Order: sequence, then structure tokens, then C-alpha cells
Amino acid sequence: MQSEPSPEPKPEKGKATRIIHNRRHKDSLGSPYSPVYNTTTYRFTDTASLQDVIEGRTPGNLYTRWGSNPTIRELEQGLAGLEAAEDALAFASGMAAISATLFTFGRNGIVCVGDLYGGTQELLTKHLKPLGIPVTFLLQNESDQLTNTLNKPGMLVYCETPANPTLGILNIRELAQRTHAKGAFLAVDNTFASPINQRPLALGADISIHSATKYLGGHSDLTAGAVMASAERIQPIAQWRKNLGQILAPETAALLSRSLRTLPVRVQQHNDNAMAVAQAMVSHPAIKRVLYPGLPDFPGHSLAAQQMDGFGGVLTLEIEGGREQAAKVADSLQVFLLATSLGGVESLVSQPCATSHHGISKQERERRGISDSMLRLSVGLEDAKDLIADLEQALGQL
Ligand SMILES: *Cc1c(COP(=O)(O)O)cnc(C)c1O
Repeated sequence: MQSEPSPEPKPEKGKATRIIHNRRHKDSLGSPYSPVYNTTTYRFTDTASLQDVIEGRTPGNLYTRWGSNPTIRELEQGLAGLEAAEDALAFASGMAAISATLFTFGRNGIVCVGDLYGGTQELLTKHLKPLGIPVTFLLQNESDQLTNTLNKPGMLVYCETPANPTLGILNIRELAQRTHAKGAFLAVDNTFASPINQRPLALGADISIHSATKYLGGHSDLTAGAVMASAERIQPIAQWRKNLGQILAPETAALLSRSLRTLPVRVQQHNDNAMAVAQAMVSHPAIKRVLYPGLPDFPGHSLAAQQMDGFGGVLTLEIEGGREQAAKVADSLQVFLLATSLGGVESLVSQPCATSHHGISKQERERRGISDSMLRLSVGLEDAKDLIADLEQALGQL
């Protein structure tokens, strides 16, 4: 049976409808989804038609590392749809997506605002700086220095919001305005928020980046990355991806495409569960502070409420006491798994000073407002009451 591709859903359709029906696959057997094209190459009938594809006269696939693979392209159409981007690229990891973007747009200098993922920080300081790329780091409260720091055209401003592990919120719209006024580009790592809660491109950013290993994948069983942007920005990044060899496997692309179809319902539940856990922890005597953008007294709350549709599934608890007390709580949890990463169906706990921020000196951590008694929770999709009971029993061990 020959099937027709479903027509593109109209933009006025709701988010979940668009995500589920954002497929253009045309399959002779009627499958609504692309089969996994586990192929590295494509056969041509003659040299002239191969030449036509190589020289762009006819569309076609040549070689999977270049990104020409129907399973990967279907994923990329889905990724672009999530943030209403013109185009998207899928990568073998979040760091692959980040490094390709930094190589493409960072050569005139990179200015980072606020806290960064440890791997990104390491890439910038240990690898890009020694290559001669000027890199500047501004703390979140130093963002007023951005305009002066952008002293050459074509620089790249790079940030994450909410940030890890303080959940600090940056004003994307304002950053985009200041960045563009100086002829620079703005890239936002949108991993913590997910496209359901925040769409940086709609707020004025030029590039949105994800570790798809987290919420987009959502089941802690795949490693991937994504970049969403205009077709004009995507094109040069695709060249870097091709030559750095950062494509993901078609099987992983199919797995990630499947995950995207449940993203809205998963993120909604992550948001609800994290809010329930945050509210339950606020008044606990063993907790000094709960950092969660959804709490009304959180410093970035009103900004988060403006630029986000939900407050996310990550929150940070500051335990009364020090490093040992926080470790004891982490070790006593039974439902939360002691593991780094975030965004999966299972709840995870990690102590930033021992994991994600282990490589940063205690003095520098303190300057960034990261205390040793912090525990970062990635709140999963279990029953909120069980998560709260688990935290209460672990805090009771102190
Ligand atoms: C995990 C993470 C990354 C890196 O992603 P990988 O898929 O592990 O390469 C980048 N940014 C943020 C905010 C992350 O949480």
C-alpha cells in the first residue's frame, strides 16, 4: 500500500500535536516513521547521477558521516520543529554540538556569561584558548560588562540558563539585544530547560544547543546532541560536523526520534514533580536553601516566569552542615540514584563539589555561589510522594 506523507501540521496546532505529527516520511509500506537506514553509503546507477547529487543539482544521499541519511534527517526535522527553527543538526553528543558551534562561530572570540557545564568550561580553557581563540568568562552578575567585552565584530556570546547547579536565570532577550548591538552572535545551551519550557531562538538568540542525552533522550540510554538555528547558521556548522566526524549513529537517531514524541508529557511531569519536591523541602529543618526557579522567593523567579513555560526538573538543595552531611544524605537516598546526568525518567542525585564541579577550586566554587553542601537533584517521573518520602528519610539520617 502506497501511503502519502501527512501534510505538515499547521502552526496553530498545539505543541504536542505538532511534535507528534512532525514527520515527512513517505514509506511504501505505510510506516509513519522512517526505518533505521543503517547504511554508510548509497548506490548510484551511473556516474552522471552521482555527479548531480555531489554538485547539488538533484537531492540525494551520499555518505552518512556528512549527515545525509534519511533517519538522521527525519530526527533533525523533529528537532527543528521543537524550537520552530528553520533547521537543526543532530550530533553524537552534546559536547560535539557545542564544540562544532564554538569552532564555527568562536574564532573572533568567545564571551561566556554565567556558569557553564564542566565539559564546556574545560573545552574552552584547555583546548580553545591554547589554539589562540580569545575566551572571556563573565559571572552572571557581571553581565553588564558584556558590551565592553565585545570589542570586535563577529564574536560569540555563549551562556546557559538555567545554569548548573545554582539554577541562575539569565535574561535571553536582553543578552540577545546587547549581543546584536555589537555585531556578535548569541548561542544558548538550552539543555536544562528543554524546548518545552524555553525556546531561546524565539527570545532572540541565534543558536540553541542541547545535550540530547538529557531531556530530549529522556531515558538515560542514549548520548546525542542538537543544534537549532536558521538555515544560514546551520550550514557552516554542518561543515565542521562533517570534518570533525561528529555524526550520530542512525540507530541512535531513531531512538531519539521516538523519545521526542513523548517530550511534552515527560517535561510536564518533570516540572510538576520538581515543584512538589521543592515545595516540600522549603520548610525542612535540615535544609538551608532550596534553589528552584519555580519558588516565588528564588532570585530569578520572575524572569523565569516571563521567559519560560515551565520551571524544569532540576533543583538544588543546600543541606545544613558541610560536605560530609550532604554526602551522607546522597548516600542514604534509596529512590534517587547517586549518579551524574539529568533529564531521565529516574531521579538522580549528585553533589556538585564532588562531581560536576570537582575540577574547580573551592575558592572559585565559592565565588560562583556553589557550596560544598549542595545536592543537585534531577527529579524524574516517579510518584512525587515517594521522592519526598525518600528525601525525608535520608535527611532524617543526619
Ligand atoms: C550534559 C550536558 C552537556 C554535555 O552533553 P553530553 O551529551 O554529555 O556531551 C552540555 N551542557 C549541559 C548543560 C549538560 O547538562
